[in-house]
This record gives sequence, structure tokens and C-alpha cells, in this order.
Amino acid sequence: MEEPLLIDGSVGEGGGQILRMAVSAAALLSRPVRVVNVRAKRSPPGLRPQHMVAVRGVVELTRGRVEGLRIGSTEIEYHPSKPKSGKFVIDAGTAGSTTLMLQSLLPVASFATGPVELELRGGTNNPMAPPVEYLNWVLMPSLRRMGVRAEIELVRRGFYPRGGGLVRARVEPVNKLRPIEVEESRVVEVRVFAYSCNLPEHIVERMSRRAAESLKRTIATDVSIVTEALQKHDPKCSSDPGTGLIIVLNLENGLAMGFDSMGEKGVPAERVADKAVEECVRQLRTGAPVDSHLGDQLVIWVSLADGRSIYRVSELTSHTRTAIMIAEKVVGAGFRVESLDGRGARITCDGIGFSR
Ligand code: ATP
Repeated sequence: MEEPLLIDGSVGEGGGQILRMAVSAAALLSRPVRVVNVRAKRSPPGLRPQHMVAVRGVVELTRGRVEGLRIGSTEIEYHPSKPKSGKFVIDAGTAGSTTLMLQSLLPVASFATGPVELELRGGTNNPMAPPVEYLNWVLMPSLRRMGVRAEIELVRRGFYPRGGGLVRARVEPVNKLRPIEVEESRVVEVRVFAYSCNLPEHIVERMSRRAAESLKRTIATDVSIVTEALQKHDPKCSSDPGTGLIIVLNLENGLAMGFDSMGEKGVPAERVADKAVEECVRQLRTGAPVDSHLGDQLVIWVSLADGRSIYRVSELTSHTRTAIMIAEKVVGAGFRVESLDGRGARITCDGIGFSR
């Protein structure tokens, strides 16, 4: 039996991303992994329901074998077999993030033997995770450019604490991924989307108006606004109240950047908007066409692609550095990172040209 590759979950960012990425890459490469010190830099360390469910999803897709998958566990060992096609229902049972589940499931599903349908239940708009809108409007345009064929549909929103949201994804298999090159681009459209469930409508209105006014002042373009204030009779409405906002910058090259923030009890709607706008303006000043979150989310994909990808990211986060370490170790892709002194960082990756 092949000796598992040892991954230290305490390196770099030391959070759940190491585990999700390691398991996902291991599934693709049919390589057993042992992840130790899981989430060593988080308090409390070890597996939380949300990480467990992401790993369980990959295990189901690959009908693999896993040991150590329990709450609080700081070590897991995973033995994959080839990803299968079919329909999979994965339920966090809590507000565990469906979009973080997708982070580990999407690469695996893209290289399955046939179409994969995923029904993911949990949170759809969580703090510290991409909102489902970010996946659809920011991540997916880049992945489609690389050849990924996936549709992600928000059926019902889910917020902390009960979750209960529903996201469906349909993923068609790909043979190989194309590399991506994004070093420069111009913003051609600015969109603001504010959403809420079980809250008075004035919240999304104040949030979106504030964001649009500030964006018009600072980046001087037309800004379109869409709001959605769902109430409990609507089948798309979550059980718990929640609200948030995302600013999407569509770029001339057909790709996009995104900046989002979520409402919190006691925080005025205007402040929620200001947070997203401040990030947007700060990152846009670097002139880089890839936002800081997309920077880490692209890493696994470029490491698998067939050839050299180059992208300029507004900020080199510790998530991105950590993702690169894992991709180098598990996938075996080569990366080069150059800091560009106020203009973000250039990431070059020689992908391995993975195919099923
Ligand atoms: P932990 O609970 O250990 O902190 P985690 O699994 O919740 O871990 P991280 O390891 O911190 O999460 O990874 C979070 C992922 O979500 C990263 O890919 C990051 O880019 C993405 N992310 C976080 N916040 C946002 C946001 N506001 N918009 C888009 N993506 C985000």
C-alpha cells in the first residue's frame, strides 16, 4: 500500500483551507494523504463540522476511505479512489459553508468519469467564506475561461446559526484545463448587489445606495444596483435573518473582481457597505485584475492546468502563499511569486496538465 503523503496543517495560514485543498488534490491525483496538526492556528484547533463535511463530500465522490474524521480531530488520513459521476447530497446540518464545500468538491467533480450533480445544504452566505454570489460572478468566469463546465444555483439562502440553505451544482467533466493569463485589465462595469432575509427592506436599500454613491465618487463609473429583500413566505428565504453586499467589477477581459461584506447585528447598513467599498478601492489602486480572495482560490486550478498560467493579484495573502505550498507539495506544480512593490504580486505557475 502506498505510504500517505504527510501534510502539516500548521504551516502558513494554518486553517481549514490546507485540509480542504490537500484532500481535494489527493483525490485527483489518487494519492493517499495524512494531514496532521489540522487547523493548528485556529482556536479551537482541529476539525469543525464545516471542515468535516467538506472532506466527507470528497470521500463520497471518490468512494475513498478516511480515518480520523470527527469533531476536534487534528489528524486525518485519506485514501482516495477515482472520482465517480452521479448525484450527491451533502448536508452540513449546521450553517457550515456550502461554498467552502464546493472549494474542495469542484475540482474533483470536474474530473469525474461523467456529470456530477451536487446538492449542498448549509450556509450560503457566511463570514470568512465566499458568498455564493462570489462563486457565480467572480470565480466562475475565471474557471470557465480555463475550461471548467459547472453551473451553480442558489435555491435557498442559509445564514448562521441554522443554515438550511441549498445550493445545487451541476458539473460536466473536463479532459484538461487551459492555463490562464491575467496581468492587466480595465473595469468596464460596476455592479452592487445587496441581499437580506427576514429583515426590513430599508437595510438593502441603505447599503446599496451608500456603496453606489461612494463608488461613483471614488472610481467614477456608472454603478448599477440590484437589491433582494426576501421575507419568510418566499421559498428562497433563509430561516434566520441575515444580510450582505457584494460589489462586482466586470473587466474588459471578460473576468471579474469581487468585494463583499456581511451585515452584523448592531452594525449600521452604511458601515457594511463602507467595508466592501474600502477593500474595493484599496485593491483597485494596485491596478491588479485579480482580487485577493480569487488569488488563493485559483491556485489549485492553475496547478492542474496544462501549461503556464500568469496572474497579477492585488495582494499576496497568507491564504495564497499557503495554497501555493500545498499545490507544490501535493500536485507537484511549480510556482514563482514576485512582489511588485505597490502593484500587487505576479504569480506564475507551471501546471502539470492533469487529465483523468
Ligand atoms: P478556518 O475555520 O480554519 O479559518 P476555513 O476553512 O473557514 O478555515 P480558511 O482556511 O480561512 O477557511 O479559507 C477561507 C476561504 O474563503 C479562502 O479561500 C478565502 O479566499 C475565502 N474567503 C474568505 N472570505 C471571503 C470573502 N469575503 N469573499 C470571497 N472569498 C472569501
